[in-house]
Amino acid sequence: MDKIWLEMYEAAKAVLHARQVSEYLSCGEVSAAVRSKSGKIYTGVCIDTCCGLGVCAERNAIFNMITNGEHEFDRVLCVMPDGSSGAPCGACRELMVQLMAGKYHDVEIMADIKTGRTVKLGEITPEWWIK
Ligand SMILES: [Zn+2]
Repeated sequence: MDKIWLEMYEAAKAVLHARQVSEYLSCGEVSAAVRSKSGKIYTGVCIDTCCGLGVCAERNAIFNMITNGEHEFDRVLCVMPDGSSGAPCGACRELMVQLMAGKYHDVEIMADIKTGRTVKLGEITPEWWIK
């Protein structure tokens, strides 16, 4: 596994902190890091609310990147509560495909932080409606 994945893992791990922030909202049980085209690492945590208003850590990290003026990325890593890596859900895959339309196929996703196995976004979005 190369240094960039380790930096991303450490950045995501640094914001992984499960907490209840109101009677109806908890966050930080899962965290994520994305690496933008410029090489900067952006992080995010999951936000879990009543009524389905929350967001996954991956999308929150992507929104953080967009907020900071960037919109292209080449790597995604997600850290689960036990420190293992996790695959993005369908909603996150959809957002990533829409954001990187035409060039999402080669975005790398950390599939297993223990072995360093990665998958490409194009491999986990077969027959997607966006090319
Ligand atoms: Zn998700």
